[in-house]
Amino acid sequence: MGRDAYDGEAVAAARADLVDYGNRLITDGLAVGTAGNLSVRVGDVVAITPSGVPYRQLTVEDICVVAFSGEQLDGRAAISSEWPMHSGIYAATDAAAVVHTHSPEVVALSITRDELPAVHYAIVGLGGPVPVVGYTRFGSDGLASGAVGALKTRTAVILQNHGAVTRAATLAQAYERALLLEWLSQVYRTSLDYGAPRILSAEELAEVEDEVRRRRYGGLTGGKGGA
Ligand SMILES: [Zn+2]
Repeated sequence: MGRDAYDGEAVAAARADLVDYGNRLITDGLAVGTAGNLSVRVGDVVAITPSGVPYRQLTVEDICVVAFSGEQLDGRAAISSEWPMHSGIYAATDAAAVVHTHSPEVVALSITRDELPAVHYAIVGLGGPVPVVGYTRFGSDGLASGAVGALKTRTAVILQNHGAVTRAATLAQAYERALLLEWLSQVYRTSLDYGAPRILSAEELAEVEDEVRRRRYGGLTGGKGGA
């Protein structure tokens, strides 16, 4: 596949967005240094942050454009080490953006828990309680398959002793989900200081999902489920 085979304008916009959100990862404390990675799917190619370039120094020219075969079509830096995970998620879901963070509350939870339970109803935005998939080395096929397996039925997953991955239809939404996951993890940890947390039941979560759907599609003015 040559450079003419994809939508250059859309890819250029995606690369600019990836630079912006890469910087936000640092500003928002979701990663440090070169940790974490982000990607956007544009048709048959993926724009993805590179390996080993600090976000504060990242330029549009560094962002890699990669075909699903793994062939690098553009970008002067090397492709993120987590390419197998990103490409696997696009192959298995309808995601158009993937955000991988090393955010501290999520990493701390991943070390000691098997799941982020439903401590707040906002967790329906991630597809319900978020599982922690067992540890495997960064950049490995095992890590990719663990993340992909969990993301088939939900929009967030936690990687043991490592970080988190969210997917969405847009980079902005995937990023918001990464922030939500970090916030929920912090709320959960704080609640443990007070005692045994009350966890929402499956029935209570289903009720929230129904209400979100009703407000979105039921013609209520201004209803966007943002209660
Ligand atoms: Zn990582």
